Amino acid sequence: MRWAWALLLVMLALPSLAQERSAMARVDLAGSSLTAEGRDKGKPRPLELRLGLSGPVPYRVYFLDGPPRLVIDFREVDFSAADADALAGRSLVPALRWGRFRPGWSRLVMELPGPYALRLAVQNGLQGGAAGAQVMLRLEPVPQAEFRSRGNALSALWDLPEPSLPAMSATPRQNQVLRVALDPGHGGHDPGAEVGAIRESAVLLSFARELSEVLTRAGYDVVQTRNDDSFVGLEQRMTIARAAQADLFISLHADALPEGQAAGLSIHVWNPDSDDRAARQLAARHDRSDLVTGLDLQGTDDQVAAVLMDLARQQTQPRSEAFAKFLLAELTRAKVPMHARPVQGAAFSVLKSPDIPSVLIELGFLTDPRDRANLFNPEWRQSTSNAIAAAIAAWSQDDAVRAGLSRR
Ligand SMILES: [Zn+2]
Repeated sequence: MRWAWALLLVMLALPSLAQERSAMARVDLAGSSLTAEGRDKGKPRPLELRLGLSGPVPYRVYFLDGPPRLVIDFREVDFSAADADALAGRSLVPALRWGRFRPGWSRLVMELPGPYALRLAVQNGLQGGAAGAQVMLRLEPVPQAEFRSRGNALSALWDLPEPSLPAMSATPRQNQVLRVALDPGHGGHDPGAEVGAIRESAVLLSFARELSEVLTRAGYDVVQTRNDDSFVGLEQRMTIARAAQADLFISLHADALPEGQAAGLSIHVWNPDSDDRAARQLAARHDRSDLVTGLDLQGTDDQVAAVLMDLARQQTQPRSEAFAKFLLAELTRAKVPMHARPVQGAAFSVLKSPDIPSVLIELGFLTDPRDRANLFNPEWRQSTSNAIAAAIAAWSQDDAVRAGLSRR
């Protein structure tokens, strides 16, 4: 467990979250406190933080250094009605802040009087069957050498920026131009499918550039995960999209046709349970490209992050699926030859972003003569790009309406 040092402890309360995803837990100041053990002799003392909540929530705990801080990320707690400075025992620590951190996430940051270690973290239901829960953390002072702050080894997905307090990230990208992350697959030492001198990585890069132009003309912001023939790891592709605050992630591929499979364009959305043989083969092939460089990123998806990502994805997944439907409608309207199963679930790890709707478009199979001819046909590329742009337009309208409905 080489990740154990970085990830200290997490408590999960999945059933309650599934039941009341819309009802966010609220913090209850009356049931919350910070206490210190022993007499104040001017040295850091063991601390106990209790947080009363209206219901159990998943959370994770870790430390940051410079100055030493305890961070708790919740999914999700409404802190808006409670002033952190009003917490009983607040004066025991140099600083305490909490609030909404980003959509779906809340964060508590407690500056510590010195280096500490987490000794205990529990989330209990309240006594007597009352609704609500209490998170209790017990911290003990440790020598600096034993202070385990979170390094950069955790998955980049969870290497979130510092919260912008007290604004509480009140800058959703509403009324802003929709930003699309285009991800031409492969690159560098990973050419993808090869047919003679044709390399999938090069075909995808030029398609992405054309599509990028079409989208830019249609009024969208476009970021590309790669702009040249360089290798970009799978997690890095998602990180680039996240750093750019992309609203939509589109990965582009044109792989070799698995033997005995039909050709044509297909759209893939995340499905961890996908048992489709061809999709599994493709997924295995793609994920291997990261292993080639010795970056076995499987480990960075620590168990807990995976569970939390699954929770976040519960909200993103329907949006990805909706986009796939709009894509199918527009591509069909444009008479782009489609695969017999045009929309498929797949366990492509590049689709795993928990909060950015993501699809992978297999533009066609380079090994199939008709698909290959299409990929080199400017008219096909143009109409396919136009159809993708039209699908983005239709989806984003529909998505905005749904978002408005769910906020009511
Ligand atoms: Zn590919």
